Amino acid sequence: MPSRFISSSAVSAPCMPLRRRVLLAAALWPMLRVGQVQAQSKSARVVIAGGGWGGLRSAAALRQLAPGLRVTVVDRARHFSSSIGSNRWLVDHAGASAPVQHEYGALAAARGYRFVQAEIKGIERAARVVHTSAGEVHYDWLVLAPGVEERWQDWGISDPLQRARAQAEVSGALGGAAQLPALRARLQAFRGGDLVLALPPAPYRCPPAPYERAVLLAWWLKTQRLPGKLIVIDPNPLMPAYRRAFNDTWREQITYLDHARVHQIDLDKRSISTDMDDIPFAAALVSPPQQAPAWLAEAGLLSSASDLWGAQDPLSLRSLVDEHVFIIGDAAGRVSPQFGHYPKTAHVAAAMGEMVAAQIAGVVKQASWPASVCHVLTGVAPESGIRLEIDYRRRGDGFLMQEIRQQQQADPLAAAAAWAAAQYANFL
Ligand SMILES: Cc1cc2nc3c(=O)[nH]c(=O)nc-3n(C[C@H](O)[C@H](O)[C@H](O)COP(=O)(O)OP(=O)(O)OC[C@H]3O[C@@H](n4cnc5c(N)ncnc54)[C@H](O)[C@@H]3O)c2cc1C
Repeated sequence: MPSRFISSSAVSAPCMPLRRRVLLAAALWPMLRVGQVQAQSKSARVVIAGGGWGGLRSAAALRQLAPGLRVTVVDRARHFSSSIGSNRWLVDHAGASAPVQHEYGALAAARGYRFVQAEIKGIERAARVVHTSAGEVHYDWLVLAPGVEERWQDWGISDPLQRARAQAEVSGALGGAAQLPALRARLQAFRGGDLVLALPPAPYRCPPAPYERAVLLAWWLKTQRLPGKLIVIDPNPLMPAYRRAFNDTWREQITYLDHARVHQIDLDKRSISTDMDDIPFAAALVSPPQQAPAWLAEAGLLSSASDLWGAQDPLSLRSLVDEHVFIIGDAAGRVSPQFGHYPKTAHVAAAMGEMVAAQIAGVVKQASWPASVCHVLTGVAPESGIRLEIDYRRRGDGFLMQEIRQQQQADPLAAAAAWAAAQYANFL
């Protein structure tokens, strides 16, 4: 079969009414190149490691674009669980429903791919095999979409038993949607005292999500008449969209510590030590630094031993060291020395899944960049919310441009629901 070539032409950003337009960064990325997918058999085996937003979108698109390919999704869970809308559900805001869940077996049968429920243990790239708790899975093309792993060890919790205890007692459930029900149960049992919300340093998944959560928790403390404060420990600068909520609307409920880094958590004393102070807590939702799962590093798929994320081409999303491997979604690494990573959002993960499927299917005529859309609440009672859009294009001289747009939504809950429904229709 002829080899496939992806055009390098940039796609121009859509033109739409802008409330705020920020041209964030322009940077020449030395490894920016156009991917060329090798000739492949029509019945090649595609293995998708991780059945989240990126993996399932990729699987569904592959089945549509190249029905002859043998597509297998591997995930440790029995269900696909989404995190979208979970912040509202955690505090029962305005009748919020539980986040979407779908059984993988039923999805696989409906969409026409194979599902293997198993823990991925590692990858042997030379033999093109994924080692799992259910045995070996062989591939011709491997799409890595495993999301993130939390680095509890950075906060002094290295022992596996302690880690399990931290996850059960203080986790903010940013590691994965499967942890959300336990977090909700902890909040329901909360009767007052200081509640700590600790953010991870960037890059982390869904950057506005912890701020939205803080606003909802402040509203919840007030409306439930729970005594105590929400203490937000943030190593990053506060997102401008939340300045008013934190400094004005909810200042009675929120104590915001910006540029504050957590050093250690003492689960017995129920205390968090930061660069500023030791902060005792009655309950906590903490989210340690994130990285791509450790088995990517073991398979040599990072750009250096000190890097924490996959190393892939920004446009083709192919691994920089193995042309049979693609890295997508939250696990993907830097794409620009200036602005760093694509945002780790569900929208980007799905867009990447689609881009990779088109390449493997050999149907790419013109390359497209991923885009991000994120709907978040910035205010509660009354609700206000924004749609954050991020687009990419390459300038004529090779610079990768990131453009961020922010738009107030007249009906933020309806807008978020419409966005999510359109996305789910593509892979659920
Ligand atoms: C609380 C919360 C709220 C969020 N809100 C939003 C939002 O409003 N909007 C938005 O755009 N994004 C949001 N996000 C982010 C969004 O969920 C992620 O960006 C998106 O899920 C990334 O997709 P992914 O495919 O890269 O990873 P995931 O969707 O996390 O999928 C990874 C999959 O890999 C599996 N896996 C990992 N390791 C292994 C292994 N060793 N063996 C087997 N299986 C494995 C996991 O079980 C999982 O199913 C939120 C995230 C959280 C946690």
